[in-house]
Amino acid sequence: MIGVFALQGAFAEHEACLDKLGVPFAEIRKKEDLDRGFDALIIPGGESTVMDKLLRDMDMLDTVRGMILGGTPVFGTCAGLILLSSEVEGGRTCLGTMDVRTVRNAYGRQLGSFRTVSSFADEGEVPMVFIRAPYIESAGPDTRVLAEVDGRIVAARSGRQLATAFHPELTDDLTVHRYFLEKVAGIL
Ligand code: GLN
Repeated sequence: MIGVFALQGAFAEHEACLDKLGVPFAEIRKKEDLDRGFDALIIPGGESTVMDKLLRDMDMLDTVRGMILGGTPVFGTCAGLILLSSEVEGGRTCLGTMDVRTVRNAYGRQLGSFRTVSSFADEGEVPMVFIRAPYIESAGPDTRVLAEVDGRIVAARSGRQLATAFHPELTDDLTVHRYFLEKVAGIL
């Protein structure tokens, strides 16, 4: 069972991807939902400042951090990447479980949304949708860079943590979700 954070943002689109892959999921909306015991977590894109505040106000931050540090696989997209990052330029550290330094709203408001195609891990080319996206400025030694666009890191993996600056859930391509479920989480 995958837990999809449904506090705010583009969670329904991730759920649609999981449906297509035939993988069961449940939404996480409050602290008690975390008690279900999930095989993996997905943190969607949206507004990282809002999700950060909700995680703190709802007293979920330490529990979620503990789950991730305890080995529960996690996939963060866009704002989800920001929440996972150990250092955030232009924002504050939230979960901080992934050894990456991330720059928020890196492309500026006007040029913030674009679509491109680029190679991802060893999986070939995938379509990538960026919406007021962050990028990873630097990654720690145990972090593997999985994709770059214009010389900037836009996807990385650190152990059982996967993060993308782009939104694979806003395309028809299931490569990144399949990669997470198969190769990071070992579920598929
Ligand atoms: N710019 C947003 C933030 O800082 C992220 C945008 C997104 O998730 N599409 O949270």
